[in-house]
Amino acid sequence: MKVKYLGTGAAEGWPGVFCGCQHCRKARIRGGKNIRTRSSVLIDDSMMVDFPPDSYSHVISYGLDFSRLKHLVITHSHQDHFFTDDLKLRKPVFAHLEDNSILNIYGNMAVGEIMTEILNSNSDLKQYMSFRYIPPFETYIADDIRITPLLASHDRNEDCYIYIFEDKHGKRMLYGNDTGIFPDATWEYIEGYYFDLVSLDCTTGPEPEGIYHMGIPDNIKIKERMTKTGAADNATKFILTHFSHNGGLLHEQLIELVRPYEFQIAYDGFEVYV
Ligand SMILES: [Zn+2]
Ligand SMILES: [Zn+2]
Ligand SMILES: [Zn+2]
Repeated sequence: MKVKYLGTGAAEGWPGVFCGCQHCRKARIRGGKNIRTRSSVLIDDSMMVDFPPDSYSHVISYGLDFSRLKHLVITHSHQDHFFTDDLKLRKPVFAHLEDNSILNIYGNMAVGEIMTEILNSNSDLKQYMSFRYIPPFETYIADDIRITPLLASHDRNEDCYIYIFEDKHGKRMLYGNDTGIFPDATWEYIEGYYFDLVSLDCTTGPEPEGIYHMGIPDNIKIKERMTKTGAADNATKFILTHFSHNGGLLHEQLIELVRPYEFQIAYDGFEVYV
């Protein structure tokens, strides 16, 4: 499985859309890996997790062709993960697509309500996209990848999801943002599996949070518990993403801080294979 991080920032991006703080100023000056657009990943080119407002800029910066995107897996309805204004452009005359080119969208009930409203008021879109509600802990298959939504610890107004992705070779990724320390039901589920890759929320950088998001001290706790229960070992790649400017540490500083814990710090355009 190939995973490409298209964006690695929190809701407002880094530099933040309207922010004048010192961390955003530094990111503007240094550029490169310090520029973090809103978070999403591409899995094996035809599947994407989340559709942030920066998806169009991802098309441009990485030379992507989203007419080939077949599956869109949504974590939750926050606008930095599910930006529907651009989704509505997936139809003629805005997009010229093959007749059978359907984008399959999967998500929780809150995403389902938004999709129902969109598809009801734009009936010509139904030819080009569909929505399927997946209850938590129910596995489905898309393009030979087994996908299981697990409950996140995030916005209590909806069942926010993190996900297990398992490819046909049995390689397994836990995709874990936006979330704090996992709820019990999620711990129980993941402790029955081994993960080759664990991608974790690091919104608050060096500061602990754990309730709605995570920082490095929370990431360490997750890694320790997963290692103790056999869900992870020395060969498991732990990758941190979804960084906010309020965490303050630039890319190189984050790398220094996590060195003893063997985490990798994702950046926009970072690719990993498992
Ligand atoms: Zn987010
Ligand atoms: Zn800022
Ligand atoms: Zn969120």
